[in-house]
Amino acid sequence: MRISASLGTDLEHLARTFHYDSSLTVDPLALVRPYRKDPKAAEIMGIFASTVAVGNVLSIRAALRNLQGKMEGDPRRFVESFPRRNWRTHLDPWKHRWIRHDQMGFLAVRLGEIYENYSRGLQEVFLDECATGRPAPEYFEQGVDCLSRALRFGSTQDKHTFYEPPPGYSQLFPTPLSSPSPPVCKRLCLFLRWMVRTGEPDLGLWRKVPPSILHIPLDTHVYWIAYHMGLTRRKTRTWRTVKEITQNLRRYDPVDPVRYDFALAHTGISGDCPKKPLITVCGKCALRPDCDLWTRQGRRTG
Ligand code: SF4
Repeated sequence: MRISASLGTDLEHLARTFHYDSSLTVDPLALVRPYRKDPKAAEIMGIFASTVAVGNVLSIRAALRNLQGKMEGDPRRFVESFPRRNWRTHLDPWKHRWIRHDQMGFLAVRLGEIYENYSRGLQEVFLDECATGRPAPEYFEQGVDCLSRALRFGSTQDKHTFYEPPPGYSQLFPTPLSSPSPPVCKRLCLFLRWMVRTGEPDLGLWRKVPPSILHIPLDTHVYWIAYHMGLTRRKTRTWRTVKEITQNLRRYDPVDPVRYDFALAHTGISGDCPKKPLITVCGKCALRPDCDLWTRQGRRTG
């Protein structure tokens, strides 16, 4: 399908009028925002929050609250004083879907080690020499790859002992540079949106990274709406789909292409989009004139 001529105006309207406050109450970002005055604490909470951001929003928040309890309100101290010899068991029995306590324990150890080597934190990792100086989007892909490799890499408990990550851990941090078919890397794209964007509801803590290079954190809700707006023709969610949707969104806001992400994701999460043309719901949808599902079927059934 073609992208409708009014999509830019309608996306703008959606972004301007969206009920950010009420949607934030169910978003994992709400548990990161209290740390916005302390960038290192916000980064730590942001990495944990984005890593467990899979599944139902209520269960994500419950899992995060549980982790937050173990941090005793101090993500910095949690990482700095995490017992490295007990990383496998220290967070037992924490679990969220298929994500286990030993994986979160290993992440805490890795973050502690990263901060020992990169005093300016994860932004410095993202801007490592492999990323800076390259044009977007290559710059972004290289940066995500730097971050992903830093988080995935094995851990050194002391000078002589090297620890392999627990099973399934590396898959939590995929890279857009993997082949042959790079995955969507939703978690790191979401984390980067939170850290980089200055507009609400994001934190704008990484001032050295321009929002223009960000890529959309592509979950099932955003994909579904993007597909029916014609922002992608791809039938599967891969990194290529992420690039295609982001490139199309750049037409409407080249400086901040992912500013529509929160509103699009929460339109799906909240059930405001029934994923079928229903006049009682679609009648209020700002994107109705641009939705292929509505224009094809809604007029007939409405
Ligand atoms: S018109 Fe209806 S089906 Fe289409 S995006 Fe809006 S709410 Fe969803």
